[in-house]
Amino acid sequence: MSNRREFIVQLSLGSGVLVSGAAMAAAPMLDEADATAKALGYVTDTAKADAKKYPKHAATQQCGNCTLFQGKAGDATGPCPIFAGKQVAAKGWCSSYVKKA
Ligand code: SF4
Repeated sequence: MSNRREFIVQLSLGSGVLVSGAAMAAAPMLDEADATAKALGYVTDTAKADAKKYPKHAATQQCGNCTLFQGKAGDATGPCPIFAGKQVAAKGWCSSYVKKA
């Protein structure tokens, strides 16, 4: 009886790991038209940021050097906690940008 329970626990833990692994690999790119992306002025190319709306934006600011970017250095895309479940472009930008220390 206890073996059976253990088996079920292991089975559910195992499939949970598989599901989250697959979800990470398949995370879609954030769309500029996404409601949250629009609200934060997200663009896939930092050069296209709205300079009038965001006067503090600078061309050197991009997701790749933002403290919230969770991709590795050199990655073209990576996750960002502001846009959960989506990938942002390393060359992108949004108004929540915080320079990496
Ligand atoms: S918070 Fe940083 S990493 Fe996330 S989208 Fe905005 S600029 Fe890019």
